[in-house]
Amino acid sequence: MLAKSFKGNFTQQEPIPQEAIEAAVAVMQSGRLHRYNVASADEVSETAALEIEFARYQNQRYCLACASGGYALQLAMRAFGLKHNEPVLTNGFTLSPVPGAIEAVGGKTVLVECTADLVLDLDHLKHQMQKIKPRLLLLSHMRGHLVDMDELCALLGAHKVALIEDCAHTMGASFGGKKSGSHGIIGCFSTQTYKHINSGEGGLLTSDNDELMARAIVLSGSYMLFERHVAAPSREVFDSIRLQTPNCSGRMDNLRAAILRPQLAQLDVNARRWNERYDAFAEGLASAGNSIALPRNNPKAFEVSSSIQFSINRFSDEENLQFLQACSAKGAELKWFGADDPVAYTSRYDSWQYLGKSTLPETDTILRRLYDCRLPLTFSVSDCRLVGKLIADVSLAIA
Ligand SMILES: *Cc1c(COP(=O)(O)O)cnc(C)c1O
Repeated sequence: MLAKSFKGNFTQQEPIPQEAIEAAVAVMQSGRLHRYNVASADEVSETAALEIEFARYQNQRYCLACASGGYALQLAMRAFGLKHNEPVLTNGFTLSPVPGAIEAVGGKTVLVECTADLVLDLDHLKHQMQKIKPRLLLLSHMRGHLVDMDELCALLGAHKVALIEDCAHTMGASFGGKKSGSHGIIGCFSTQTYKHINSGEGGLLTSDNDELMARAIVLSGSYMLFERHVAAPSREVFDSIRLQTPNCSGRMDNLRAAILRPQLAQLDVNARRWNERYDAFAEGLASAGNSIALPRNNPKAFEVSSSIQFSINRFSDEENLQFLQACSAKGAELKWFGADDPVAYTSRYDSWQYLGKSTLPETDTILRRLYDCRLPLTFSVSDCRLVGKLIADVSLAIA
């Protein structure tokens, strides 16, 4: 039987939990929205409390909350001491805020190919490390897919390359039982509306390294109030850097932090809810047989599948467009990474022309046939199964 059409909204998030709304109202009633505006020296602001809780969640010593995920990436590279025009390796398949952050701090983006499982190609990484001799990899766990972190870390260790993780899509995920974001020197997260916890905009940065975190805190705009941080290194660490580190203002405020704390407490529950939706969607797609391929997960990875990607090899460019339109007519809102001009967020590396020209033939082939769909938690499990089935039916109807 052919599935009927779908009416759900692919960008509709769940409401902010009642407890979070009440916490936000309390912050507004206090008037103390700025993170350093405390009533007494021993008051821990909402922002400082969020940092304590997220550091604990990540099993890391330190955490800093800031203005956005992209800003967290910038802070991480500045804290690392990236020099002007220094090369930074990153994924050829990621979203535009990643090369954008490298540009913002004056680095030079060097792209690495991705595999059919949508993770970094470690052979190409090795090639690029031998050729460029970089100090840093900014690894983007694009769409939540985790590369083999054991292999990656061994490879980076052998080439003395440091790792900063972009965990915009892996908050709540882990590899080998270790939280995504704790495998390198710094982990960066986003709390923007379309990620795993929602404060509209916002970012988090975690680390175990004293000096990196002290620099990140001062860079974020702590003035000389860094002692109001709790998930932070001791005063002595700041003494050595505080007058040599610029204030690149980009703090988080107590209102956003208050909204995020109750959501963090629900993150693991929501991770399972996303994964149930993913499995149901994949079941629906499976009715098209093996003409629709899903990326394979590494067995050591626990991923949080808040979106789904699949590829269809047999379509021409024209059939891809026909397929997109037919899915849309049935209410299934897909994005396609194969279009020559980026639509909404489907940025492709060749549309970041400010980087200069890169050639990634493997990534080109993968993106030409790759589709992407959000799985908002406002969809039920059976909604997701239905949308998967609709898409499978539409694909079978095309040639
Ligand atoms: C959203 C996103 C970011 C940046 O997050 P913002 O909070 O929007 O700045 C970075 N990397 C990836 C892969 C993202 O999807």
